[in-house]
Amino acid sequence: MGKVHIGAAFGYIVRNSTDDNGMRLAAKVACRLTDMSPSAVRSLDSDLNFSVRSMGLKPSAAYTVAERINWRRASLLIHRTIGPNHASPASFDADLNEAYVRTWKRQEGGARPTRHGPYLGSSYWAYSKHAERIKTRQAWPEAIQLVRAGKRVAESATLAHRAIFARWFGNSATQAAIDVLNLTLNGLENECTGVGYAGPHAQGNLLDLQEVGFAGDGRASDVKPGPAWGTAQGSIPGYICLESKFFDDAATSGLRSVAHTTTGGMEVSRGGAVLHEATHLFGKTADVRLDDQVFTQLNIVREAKHADEKAYGPKVCAAFAIAQAVDTVRNADSYRLFCEDAYAA
Ligand SMILES: [Zn+2]
Repeated sequence: MGKVHIGAAFGYIVRNSTDDNGMRLAAKVACRLTDMSPSAVRSLDSDLNFSVRSMGLKPSAAYTVAERINWRRASLLIHRTIGPNHASPASFDADLNEAYVRTWKRQEGGARPTRHGPYLGSSYWAYSKHAERIKTRQAWPEAIQLVRAGKRVAESATLAHRAIFARWFGNSATQAAIDVLNLTLNGLENECTGVGYAGPHAQGNLLDLQEVGFAGDGRASDVKPGPAWGTAQGSIPGYICLESKFFDDAATSGLRSVAHTTTGGMEVSRGGAVLHEATHLFGKTADVRLDDQVFTQLNIVREAKHADEKAYGPKVCAAFAIAQAVDTVRNADSYRLFCEDAYAA
């Protein structure tokens, strides 16, 4: 289950998409939640419930009952995560609670968090299910394992390893790929990366969350589900939003133990999906548009509907490595497929 009371508090810490200080304060609270145990987060969410203690609460001149409860949730969430030495107001006085939140925005909202590695953003706490948070947390070390395997194979001179490299990068220079893998590995391990939940349970954004990383330009936007595996936004440090297919067991798997086939499926591991986005964010890769030669290689007559097709998946990327090799070292999914095969080798 999503943590709906924590989610409601986040909705009041960030009031709109231009509230940059609120955004950075929320990120710091989310970092702290990421480091807490699941049971500690569960008990915090239940302390923010207030359903019994707010019985009989009346609207004030300026605030509805829901607003009075949510301002108190917002201040208590801050106190219980990043402000343990600064008690939040012990009442539903919305002016006092709002002032408490404003003070923290001034104090902590000036700079982004500086944590090492990824943190689950407010959208994760508000909407994702426990199993989805587990999948996400596991995918990061899996992505790191995949990049390490890719580096090992790319740096190796054995014939079998050169064949794996050539399968996905054709006759490209090995060093260009190793450079991207190094940037990606460093980013996955060290950069403070916000992870947004764009999975199926964000439908409707009931808690009215605004979070950085959801808009195409990497700025803040309404939290909403996305149809694909994920997106990467912003410059370093940046954001990765994981979308519905990432959480769908029919579309993704754990680490793969066999090499890719080229029979048509995307064959995406969850670690591979994170790796793909991480090469965008840290290695400046793209999803490269296919040239005509790739369609010839695939024995497909190119039509208007293929105009914007990009190099995704084993079938297309294998042909891409033969017919358009010069572009493989800047194509995200070529790295994903190569590292998955390197890990399985
Ligand atoms: Zn991509």
